[in-house]
Amino acid sequence: MSAVVSDAEFRPRATDGRAPNVFRLGEWVPMATYPEDEAVDFAIVGTGCGGSVLAAKLAAAGHSVVAFDAGAFYRPLEDFASDEREQEKLYWLDERISGGDDPIELGSNNSGRAVGGTTVHFQMVTLRFRPEWFRSRSLLGYGHDWPVDWREMWNYYDAAEDAMKIAGPLRYPWGPPRGRYPYREHELSASALVLARGAEAMGVDWCATPTASISAPRGEANPCAYRGFCKIGCATNAKQSMLVTYVPWAIEAGAEIRDLAMVGRIETGPDGRATGVHYRRNSRWRFQKAKAVIVAGYSVETPRLLLNSACPRHPDGLANSSGLVGKGLMVHANHAVWGVMEEEIRWYKGPPSLAVCEHWNYEDAGKDFFGGYAFMSQGPLPTDFATSLVSNEGVFGHELRKWMGRYNHMAGLKIVGETMPQETNRVELSDETDALGLPIPKVTYAYCDNDRRLAAHAQDFMGRTLEAAGARDLFRTSGTAHLMGGCRMGEDPATSVVGPDGRSWDIDNLFVCDGSLFPTGGGVNPSLTIVANALRIADRIRDLAARGDLR
Ligand SMILES: Cc1cc2nc3c(=O)[nH]c(=O)nc-3n(C[C@H](O)[C@H](O)[C@H](O)COP(=O)(O)OP(=O)(O)OC[C@H]3O[C@@H](n4cnc5c(N)ncnc54)[C@H](O)[C@@H]3O)c2cc1C
Ligand code: SF4
Repeated sequence: MSAVVSDAEFRPRATDGRAPNVFRLGEWVPMATYPEDEAVDFAIVGTGCGGSVLAAKLAAAGHSVVAFDAGAFYRPLEDFASDEREQEKLYWLDERISGGDDPIELGSNNSGRAVGGTTVHFQMVTLRFRPEWFRSRSLLGYGHDWPVDWREMWNYYDAAEDAMKIAGPLRYPWGPPRGRYPYREHELSASALVLARGAEAMGVDWCATPTASISAPRGEANPCAYRGFCKIGCATNAKQSMLVTYVPWAIEAGAEIRDLAMVGRIETGPDGRATGVHYRRNSRWRFQKAKAVIVAGYSVETPRLLLNSACPRHPDGLANSSGLVGKGLMVHANHAVWGVMEEEIRWYKGPPSLAVCEHWNYEDAGKDFFGGYAFMSQGPLPTDFATSLVSNEGVFGHELRKWMGRYNHMAGLKIVGETMPQETNRVELSDETDALGLPIPKVTYAYCDNDRRLAAHAQDFMGRTLEAAGARDLFRTSGTAHLMGGCRMGEDPATSVVGPDGRSWDIDNLFVCDGSLFPTGGGVNPSLTIVANALRIADRIRDLAARGDLR
């Protein structure tokens, strides 16, 4: 039985011209509704970092927009509990087949399912790419170049950070100068101070992590209460997820959001162009006509939908003349080193990663690998930590109790490490189908030697850093976080799925805008870059429409 009485997962809430007011218990805001049999300007699949930004910006530019999300429309104040098990409702837990030499653990740590997307349970770390990474092939000799200039992205990063009111340090130690973060940095937790002490002993810079959790009130959202439940959904609305930022802005600007609405297929006409989407809501398949379709379902569901929409004109799936849909899937290496401190840490207090070191993203000398990594202080909740002890260390029973008895004295450092884009790492459709009759996605993943060298370097450096901070009884775990790639954007139709404006090379009224566009992953968490890139693409689409290039 659910600990929190909520109908959000069982019955669509955004209906009859109103949507949940995410800032008030039980209240509503007015919302536009569009008929299904009249083509809207844009049908958007997904309301995460990519979809909600486009919905808000395109609606504000005067377009009719309907955005679909398979997940529920929550009011955090009433629907979220301080309970790890209850909050599993935020994860995308539908069946996915995971294989390859290093199968990715899919579920709680990789993608979400809610209006607002994965940001409803993300951990709020908001870092910018190193400028050279946008030209990693030309400048650094690996991966693929992005079809964008870093200076253009720098402006969109400013806009994205302002929209999410990022709390960050006065001076950021790495990369080109940036403006001041809109909100002051958070006070460092004991866990963050361990990273600070270790980094200083190792002679590398560190700083307070730029975080999408407000450090002072913002409108009806309360500032962070430092209770540390961020990964399972912030009940105070301090977390500036898409659910409390771009989604309400999209509704206010005239977009309609349809929750509990799973899109199963994009329809195409005899000319091969997209004509709308088939979606399942209230136990019925329905059809929304649209002049253009934008797919923003993230790195597994976006390729899955494009592949499942194959038709006689596009027998290998939509936007797939390059054969690259689903290929080039990336994760971030998420290896960690943990240790026991003499003093009490209580690492669950506050957002989990309040201090960061990007030294090895910006320093290339002495590396035997391409790419980089950031490492951050940690604060896993008890079940999360116990699960990683069981799966990584194989500890059970008395040994597990012993480790969990040290929980309040533990500290840890974890990387967000760049992995190489490889076409063999991919999303395909399996022969099995789910409860809706849709093919279950099959994900194949293996690290390459470069990825392993990066991980070894990181674990060695973090181990020495943690020891320098005073930790003992060190042990290591490995894992992955974040998904990227699968629908690479680029300049050349032969080597990419979409062009610089997210437009499919094959179908001119079909766009992709989410984390699947990443040609490379960088050594930082992806959301800020997805939002900044979506802001850029929104401007591009608005300009295409203004000059009559969208029919
Ligand atoms: C536990 C965790 C912690 C994280 N922490 C951080 C962090 O600290 N910093 C950071 O930068 N990133 C973090 N991330 C990653 C980040 O949240 C994602 O990279 C980002 O949200 C992806 O944005 P997106 O728009 O591509 O997809 P999403 O935000 O996942 O949005 C996709 C949406 O599409 C919907 N959808 C998918 N398919 C369909 C369909 N067929 N029909 C209808 N709806 C559909 C989904 O329900 C979902 O709501 C974290 C992720 C996890 C899981
Ligand atoms: S620590 Fe702050 S951001 Fe995290 S759940 Fe609590 S109030 Fe929200």
